[in-house]
Formats: sequence, C-alpha cells, structure tokens
Amino acid sequence: MAEQESLEFGKADFVLMDAVTMPEFMANLRLRFEKGRIYTFIGEVVVSMNPYKNLNIYGRDTIEQYRGRELYERPPHLFAIADAAYKAMKRRSKDTCIVISGESGAGKTEASKYIMHYIAAITNPGQRAEVERVKNILLKSNCVLEAFGNAKTNRNDNSSRFGKYMDINFDFKGDPIGGHINNYLLEKSRVIVQQAGERSFHSFYQLLQGGSDQMLRSLHLQKDASAYKYICPGAQIKCSINDGAEFKAVADAMKVIGFKQEEIETVYKIVAVILHLGNLKFSVDGDTPVIENSKVVSIIADLLSTKFDMVEKALLYRTVATGRDVIDKQHTEQEATYGRDAFAKAIYERLFAWIVTHINDVIEVKNYDTTVHGKNTVIGVLDIYDTFPLPTTLIPFFPFFFSFEQFCINYCNEKLQQLFIQLVLKQEQEEYQREGIPWKHIDYFNNQVIVDLVEQQHKGIISILDDACMNVGKVTDEMFLEALNNKLGKHAHFSSRKLCATDKTLEFDRDFRIKHYAGDVIYSVTGFIDKNKDTLFQDFKRLMYNSSNPVLKMMWPEGKLSITEVTKRPLTAATLFKNSMIALVDNLASKEPYYVRCIKPNDKKSPQLFDEERCRHQVEYLGLLENVRVRRAGFAYRQTYEKFLHRYKMISEFTWPNHDLPSDTDAVKKLIECHGFQHDVAYGKTKIFIRTPRTLFTLEELHAKM
Ligand code: ADP
Ligand code: MG
Repeated sequence: MAEQESLEFGKADFVLMDAVTMPEFMANLRLRFEKGRIYTFIGEVVVSMNPYKNLNIYGRDTIEQYRGRELYERPPHLFAIADAAYKAMKRRSKDTCIVISGESGAGKTEASKYIMHYIAAITNPGQRAEVERVKNILLKSNCVLEAFGNAKTNRNDNSSRFGKYMDINFDFKGDPIGGHINNYLLEKSRVIVQQAGERSFHSFYQLLQGGSDQMLRSLHLQKDASAYKYICPGAQIKCSINDGAEFKAVADAMKVIGFKQEEIETVYKIVAVILHLGNLKFSVDGDTPVIENSKVVSIIADLLSTKFDMVEKALLYRTVATGRDVIDKQHTEQEATYGRDAFAKAIYERLFAWIVTHINDVIEVKNYDTTVHGKNTVIGVLDIYDTFPLPTTLIPFFPFFFSFEQFCINYCNEKLQQLFIQLVLKQEQEEYQREGIPWKHIDYFNNQVIVDLVEQQHKGIISILDDACMNVGKVTDEMFLEALNNKLGKHAHFSSRKLCATDKTLEFDRDFRIKHYAGDVIYSVTGFIDKNKDTLFQDFKRLMYNSSNPVLKMMWPEGKLSITEVTKRPLTAATLFKNSMIALVDNLASKEPYYVRCIKPNDKKSPQLFDEERCRHQVEYLGLLENVRVRRAGFAYRQTYEKFLHRYKMISEFTWPNHDLPSDTDAVKKLIECHGFQHDVAYGKTKIFIRTPRTLFTLEELHAKM
C-alpha cells in the first residue's frame, strides 16, 4: 500500500478506508483534492483529479524520487504507475499498457504526456544518439497531432477529437528504440461545422495566426478567420491555445520529425484548400448548377497543382457507370454542396492519417534482431477520446443531441469499460474461485449487454444500420429508426419515442435512447445513414491522384482506379470503427494493464471547486468503489508454489538448498511461517496469494541480502 505522508492529506490508497462506502470515498477524494493531493491509489490503479492549476510535481527531483522504486514506496503519482509498467517490462519482459480513461477535460491527455515524459527521462543513460532521436520524435509528435486532431470544445480548450494509442518499443537494455501510433476515428465533421461556442481544429486558426505574410499570400489567405465560412464561428471565441506560438512549435516539430519542406508546404496547402472550399458559392442557372465565385476554384486548382476545369468538373458532376457506359451526371445544387463538404472532410481526415503514418515511418523499429538483442518489449499508452458520457439530466446546455460520432465514441467507452471489468474485476474473482480461496462475490454492473446491443452480428445497432445502408434506393434516417424499433423494441437498454410515448425526455420522433453504463444518452438519428455510408464521390479521389504534386498523389492512391474498376463496396464507417475497436481491445488484453482513472472536479475549470454531485457520478460509473472492494478482498501478488520456491528458497533453512517436505506447497508454507507472514497469505490449489505488497517487499529484501 502506498506510503502514507500524513493523515492530514487523507488516505493515499482508497483500500485503507475504514469502511468502503460512497460517503467515505467521496470524503477522502475531496480532502485530497483540497489539499492539492490529486493522485490516490486503488492498489495499482491511480485515480487522478484534474487540479486546473500548475502543480510543481513533475520536475526532475520528483522523477528521481520515483525512479526504480516500488509502487507503494512513494506517495501516489502517475510516475509510480509509469515506473511500475516500465519495471514489469524491463524485469519480467512483459508487454504492458497504460489505459487512461475519464471524461472530457478530466486530464487524460495531460496524464499521457507526463507518462511519456517520465519514460523519456529515466531511459537512455548512455545517451545513445539513435535512442535520443526516437525519444525526441515521440515527444514532439504530440504537438503535431494535437494541432491537427484537437479543438476547443465547450468542455475543454484542448479537447482530443481522435483516439490515440501509442506503443513504445524497448530493447533489451530498456531503452526506447521505436514506436507506433494508432489513431482512431477523427471527428471530421468538425471541419465543416461546429457547435455554438466551439472551434474547428486548432490547425486552421494556427495557420492564420502564425503563418508569415508571405506564406498566407502564397496560400491566398487573409489573417482573419471570420472570412472563412467553415471556421468563422470560432474566430471570435477565446481559447487558451496560443495559436501563433503553437504554429511555430508545430512547424519546428514537423522538421524534427523529418517532414521535408515540400511535405510541410503540402500540409498547409491542404489546410488552405479546405478554407477556400468552404467559401465556394453554388447556385443554379436554369437547371445547371454553377459556381458563382470561379476565382476561388482557380485558387483551389493552383494549391492542388491541378487544372481549373478538373476542379470545376469534380465539384459539379459525378461519373457513373451504367452497364458498359460511363456518363457524367450533373449534380443538383444540394448534391454539389454535399460533395464539396464530403471532399473537405475527406482531405482533412486523409491528411491526419498521413501525418500519423509519416511519424510511424520514422520511428518504426527496423532490423531488430531478437537473437542478438533479446526480446523487444512494448509499453502502450492509450489516451482515448474526450467523451461526454453523462446522463442527459446533467447536461448543462440544452438542447443537446448526440450524433453518430458520439455514438461511436460512447461505444468505444463501453468496450474499454468491458475490458476493465474483464481484467480487474472478473478475472480476479474467477481466479480466486478456481484456486479455491474463500471469496465473497462482489456485485458490479457488467456492461457486456450494452456492448452486445451495439456490436452483435445481425442483431446489434451497427448491423441494423449497415443493413439500412445496403438498401437500394433512397434510404432515410427514419427508416433506420424504424428498423431499430422493430428489432430492439424489447431490449432493456434501448428505447425510442415510438416505443415509449410517455417518455417526455425523448422530445422528437427522431430520437432514440441507449442506457449506457455511464448513464442514459439520447441520440438523434439525423445523419446516421449519411455518416455511416461516408460517401466521397470517386471523382474527387481521381482529382487528387492526378495532381502533379507528388505528395498529394501519394496520399490518394485509390484515385488510380477508373470508374469501371471500382467494384467493391467499401466498409461502412461504423463497421470500420467496430473492427478497429475490437483490434484495440484484443491488443490491450494481451498486455499487462495499468490504469489511470481521471476525474473532472467541476465544469468551471476551477482549481478550488469540488462539485460533489459531478464527482460522485464519475466515481460511480468508473466503478471505483467496486474496484476498492475487489482489491480489499483480494491479493496483491500471486505465484505458483514452484516458482515462488525457486525464487525464495534461500531465505529459509528449511528450504535451502533443498527441502524434504512432501510437496512444494508444504515447503512454501514452512518458509512463510518461519518468517511470520502466515496472516498475510492464502494458499490456493496451485498458487500462493499474498495480500499486501509490503510482505512481498520484505521477502525481496531478504532475498537481496542473501
Ligand atoms: P482530457 O484529455 O481528459 O479531455 P486534458 O488532459 O486535455 O483533458 O486536460 C484539460 C485541461 O485541464 C488541460 O488543458 C489543463 O489546463 C488542465 N489539466 C489537466 N491535467 C492537469 C495537470 N495534471 N496539471 C495541471 N493542469 C491540468
Ligand atoms: Mg484529451
């Protein structure tokens, strides 16, 4: 258990509470927050409160205090978790992962950065140049990814609008030699529209604020963000991001990472093209749609290194194959606008993915020879989306409707909660049962039923949505809702107005509700079909592929196919997302997990205010009380008798060098008793279980003295 500083700061580990009750948990959480102690353990889980002020607890001296120490030797801190994951990786050659969860503004991204910073600080004592290069890129990549993937929202000025999982690879010396970043579902709809009070991605404002006059001139841009339709609502919004300074930091980071000048220029050309696309004006002349401001078309053509006619044609027509014939079909004004918006979103999303791939290319581990260097081990850090998993009653601004993107993100949270349940709660209980250790079952809500509601083959919401999208002819969001009602009408976690006409919280006939583990969320079906199909007319892909800018061409390889060669129906957005979530969870489950559970103290970004109701709700849905119960009933350490004996037999005369007892189990019992630890252990069928880490620590000390 964590070292106690003084009780004046509350209990450093929730496991030490006198009674495991919500009031006591909350009292301890509040006391520690008010005393500036933002971290508290639950065994090996760190509960973290956002302090909303800078604390002097991440410096070199603090790093030195945690380096190489056992988890419970020092007060709770992110560094303790980072060190534990690092040690497990180095000493036991285990792949580990650190999963950081919590709602928007709870401090996930900051935590992930402190963890990376810690790992960078304690590694590479030999100052090897290649390791320094990799570390530098891993650290610098954050700034680039945040510029393009984060935005100001009503909850967080620097809200992550994508999920990030970063693997760091270590060599046999324990030094980082490479890494890999996976990004998940960027909220690309933000490129064309934002909610009141919110901004588009930082990159747009950064370019306008930070780009030199000459650069802006070459991109045909003016400094004032309100001149650009796609991002203008954000122009007046105050944001704590220093756009000008960040622009320079990002440009510098891109150079360090190894982006070539031509590539950096292309990045900003794409950003500029999006701003210009938003300003295109369509109208109709007779039945022919036309673009009123053809000047803008020529700017776009120039920036994309293509021809005016080609841009204009891609915006106003689409090529369709009817039997063996290929014809150009003219858009309606509405289709043209739809196509243009889809194009803007797609090139931004592709740009983001390309940046990630580029970073991966330069940090990928190459030529690692396990026969020479030993096992190549990994620490993964997951900083997932900023979510709003709130029951609708607590949503402060109304009306607020959750859309397709939030549906995906909330599904992701259900998956991660399920993983937590599997790893921390369920597995633990099952092992005790298997080993025949007396165990009082602890109740917790198992959210598998909600995961199934979303992802189950044929029956789940995603399957129903995909089926609706497959229908030929015009499919509407209402038809999808109808199908949901028909198939899920009896599901305990699903309802809609049609199914429950008396429910006044479902305002419209277009709403449906999912009872998520974190609370009820109402979704509006509007846009589900379009966003799931995620149609981008082929013509835009060919436009990009045919650019004479080689960087753009490389980003859009599928533009090579002509209309008659494109046969496969692409997977839908929801199915792609589902597959990526299943892969993520499988990957995490294969590693030894460490958890950081972030809590947001209030909605005002105040360093003083502890909002009791908001905090309690988070403690509830994160399942922290159940976590404490399992932990208290549980054991910190377990090992098979044989392996335990192998390690510790030299600390007892009864077992060293060999024992004459009937079994290893008896020998272990004798060893434990001669040191007086019998009250802190339980004997299972194949394993010994040790309740507190301190006993293990003492055993290790005795072992070291031999
Ligand atoms: P999340 O990723 O969970 O949405 P962030 O990590 O972006 O949240 O945190 C939101 C804001 O809260 C940060 O921009 C910062 O101002 C503040 N914050 C979070 N963690 C800390 C911390 N450990 N120390 C100081 N400020 C913090
Ligand atoms: Mg974040």
